[in-house]
Amino acid sequence: MPELPEVEVTRRGIAPHVEGRVVTEVILRREGLRWPFPDGLDALLRKRRVLSTSRRGKYLLLNFEHGSLIIHLGMSGHLRILSGAHPPQKHDHVDLVLGEARMRFTDPRRFGAVLWHAKEEGDINTHLLLRSLGVEPLECTDLAQRLYRATRSRSAPIKQLLLAGDIVVGVGNIYACESLFHAGIHPATAARRISPARYEKLAVEIQRVLAAAIEQGGSSLRDFIGADGQTGYFQQTYFVYDREGESCRQCGSLIRRIVQGQRSTFYCGRCQR
Ligand SMILES: [Zn+2]
Repeated sequence: MPELPEVEVTRRGIAPHVEGRVVTEVILRREGLRWPFPDGLDALLRKRRVLSTSRRGKYLLLNFEHGSLIIHLGMSGHLRILSGAHPPQKHDHVDLVLGEARMRFTDPRRFGAVLWHAKEEGDINTHLLLRSLGVEPLECTDLAQRLYRATRSRSAPIKQLLLAGDIVVGVGNIYACESLFHAGIHPATAARRISPARYEKLAVEIQRVLAAAIEQGGSSLRDFIGADGQTGYFQQTYFVYDREGESCRQCGSLIRRIVQGQRSTFYCGRCQR
């Protein structure tokens, strides 16, 4: 599943090909994905210029003068930039044509979304899907304090609070496991029992782990362009994620797996207390 780094790398990949360009056609090949596509989307966007791209959590935004197109990649979606004729394949559901360039949304499992937020409905951050999102981890300058303050009365395990996304967005399963490992915090620790000093460490690791993933993914930017480039989400070297039974890269103990909120958590019982 694409997490924040993949979405940010996707944004950077498409940005040079869509920003400043005028939409010439919107092609929708089904009624919708997770939700129905907006009515009259072609008429709404045709001859309109994409002013900028941005991202909020895992939502990609194409910003126009009269509103924003909200794209969510869901479980399996990806965007590519094509030029020339490329007959759509089975899972190619949406094309945004911008003159010579074509941004194609492919989503085999169809959990993705394409929605429209008109400017007259107010600030994009008031949209139903965006308004209760936590802070952006890479833009937040007081992440440790926010984590500490927001968890004073919360006895849920820290890992589950990170995943919930209402304090901080974009720390999905992989990055929650990895940052807790680097911060030396056991994933089942009650959030309210973690000291300010340990939250300082955790905040640093969340930002470092996410930034490193974006940087690593940046090397696959060329895959966003071209017909056959299977964009696939980038593979990284993890310290604990998906490494049950393997040796900890730091201490040699076996990495363990537990289930928290129906998600697998990987951790080292010696490095994380
Ligand atoms: Zn270890």
